[in-house]
Amino acid sequence: MNQEKLYEVIEKLFDFDVRQVFKVLYEEGKELSEEAIAEKTGLKLNSVRRALNLLLEKKFVTYRRARDPDKQRNVFFWKVDIIGLHSTFVNRKRMVLERLKYKLEQESKTTYYVCPLDNTRYALEEALEHDFTCPRCGSPLTIDEKRDERLNMLKGIIARLEEEIRNEIHRR
Ligand SMILES: [Zn+2]
Repeated sequence: MNQEKLYEVIEKLFDFDVRQVFKVLYEEGKELSEEAIAEKTGLKLNSVRRALNLLLEKKFVTYRRARDPDKQRNVFFWKVDIIGLHSTFVNRKRMVLERLKYKLEQESKTTYYVCPLDNTRYALEEALEHDFTCPRCGSPLTIDEKRDERLNMLKGIIARLEEEIRNEIHRR
C-alpha cells in the first residue's frame, strides 16, 4: 500500500487530526515526543494525545515512557508500530477475501434470473416461487446472462487480493 492510500485509510477510520498525527510519525520513521508531534502538526497537545490513543487502540503506534530529569515528570515517545499496522491490514484483507470467496461459492451454485425491465435479480427458488415472472412488475424473468461476467470479475478480485496478501507477508 502506498503512503497516500495509507493516510486516506487512517482518515477514513478516524478523522483528519489522527491522519496528521499518523503522517508525521510515519514520515519521521523514529520516535517523537508528544510535544514534537504537536509542533509538527500544529495541533494542540490534547488533540495529539487523543489521536495517539485512538491509534494505540488499533495497535498502529507504540510508545515508550521516559523520565524527564529537568521537569520531574514522565515523557512519552511514540512511533509507528509497523508490525501491528501490517497485521491489521493483512487481517482486514483476509476478511474481505473470505467474504468474497463465500459470495463466489454462493453465486457459482445458484442460477439467477433477472427482470429485463427493472433489473432485479432472483435466485432459482425465488424465480420458481413466482412462476418466472417478476414479483414487482410481472415481466417474464430471463436467465441472467451476465452471471459469467460477474463470476469472472469476482475471481479476478480474489486472485488480486490473494497476491496482495502474499506480498504483504513477504515484505515483513
Ligand atoms: Zn420487474
